[in-house]
Amino acid sequence: MRINKYLAHAGIASRRKAEELIKSGQVQVNGKMMTDLAYQVKAGDRVEVDGISAYSEEPVYFLFNKPRGVISSVSDEKGRKTVMDYFHGVKERIYPVGRLDWDTSGLLLMTNDGEFANLMTHPRHEVEKVYVAKVEGQANKENLRPLTHGVRLDGRKTKPATYSILKTDGVKKTSVVSLVIHEGRNHQVKKMFEAVGLPVQKLSRVQYGPLDLAGVAPGEYRKLSKKEVSQLV
Ligand code: URA
Repeated sequence: MRINKYLAHAGIASRRKAEELIKSGQVQVNGKMMTDLAYQVKAGDRVEVDGISAYSEEPVYFLFNKPRGVISSVSDEKGRKTVMDYFHGVKERIYPVGRLDWDTSGLLLMTNDGEFANLMTHPRHEVEKVYVAKVEGQANKENLRPLTHGVRLDGRKTKPATYSILKTDGVKKTSVVSLVIHEGRNHQVKKMFEAVGLPVQKLSRVQYGPLDLAGVAPGEYRKLSKKEVSQLV
């Protein structure tokens, strides 16, 4: 949404008056002065007027079970299905906390609380995440061991992870492995399995810190309680 319209929606001023505020340097986006009248406000942007938040929406937090084939962003220029297609009934301007790949299913948090989202995705905030991966090949102690020490991805070693082998199929030559990591690098789980010669065929995130998907079917969501939010931060 264009910035003057956004400020008008937030009840700050009329669109014309909002333009004057922008021109006079009183409007900040993500901590920086914004003088571009054509600026389009994006999900997660922190818009302030004279250092005070433009919006005073109540923070909300949802646990969503993302189906496969859905993009973890608020819009898609190619018109593909996004996570927002599941939240039509929610009036707050929410967005995903981090991302799951298009073809990854499972637990994704959604919120309108930028500070919470930043904290959850900060590399030093080590929330435990559990993934279940169906991989090509026979997983065993030997080939999975490097994951427990860390493997080099894009020039940087991953932190030690733990795993458990849930199933191996000697005929189809596939395995199902759960992997616990404390980071959230791009395509991390797929790259970690790739690094040990077990390419991922199917991936799902089943746990995020103390939260799991109990009672939430694919495509459904539920609100987090205050207690659940406080357990995460
Ligand atoms: N790791 C991946 O490779 N993909 C995801 O979607 C999440 C973690």
